[in-house]
Amino acid sequence: MAVPEVLIVGGGVIGCAVAYELARHGVKVRLLEGAGLCSGASGANGALVWPQAMARGIGLTFSLANFRLFPALGEELGVDLEYRRTGGLVAVGADQWERMVAYAAAQREIGLPAELLDGAAARACITIAWWLTTFPGATIMLTVLGINFMGDWLRDLFDPRLESL
Ligand SMILES: Cc1cc2nc3c(=O)[nH]c(=O)nc-3n(C[C@H](O)[C@H](O)[C@H](O)COP(=O)(O)OP(=O)(O)OC[C@H]3O[C@@H](n4cnc5c(N)ncnc54)[C@H](O)[C@@H]3O)c2cc1C
Repeated sequence: MAVPEVLIVGGGVIGCAVAYELARHGVKVRLLEGAGLCSGASGANGALVWPQAMARGIGLTFSLANFRLFPALGEELGVDLEYRRTGGLVAVGADQWERMVAYAAAQREIGLPAELLDGAAARACITIAWWLTTFPGATIMLTVLGINFMGDWLRDLFDPRLESL
């Protein structure tokens, strides 16, 4: 087997993307993955390509580049990545309105469309998940319960204080 110029350990999205770009530029790459490609966080995340979540800095720069890259990436790779640019909706209470005015202005400044909607306009945007508008209380309760269970599970798994019990 040819000796690689670059050895990458870990076949998550980062390792695979680096390997792909290097190989595309003619570098001999070998990728070592211990458990299966994208078997870690890359295969179990929220699947959001969401630069709006990034604070300014290197993370935002990468995230914006990623945002621009994604629409054509499936075609380039010859696979359906199931990528859809759907937009997103963040619901906040009245006490956070001023903060969101500043947030939306900052988003627009870097070229990301962001609009502030009142309750009626926001509800009008939700056309598919009818139960989300019909049973908002139940939806919130299920979400909070889900996060709660996940928190308990993570605590049981990682809290070193529980080891001595
Ligand atoms: C619950 C959750 C939700 C998230 N939601 C989002 C989201 O919506 N949008 C978003 O952009 N990001 C999201 N993220 C973050 C995103 O998933 C990670 O930033 C990204 O997947 C990290 O990729 P990675 O390649 O660095 O790591 P990983 O995907 O974890 O890959 C590391 C790989 O290295 C392998 N490995 C480790 N050690 C060795 C070794 N010694 N030898 C060989 N192989 C090894 C592992 O098996 C694994 O496959 C989320 C993360 C989590 C946990």
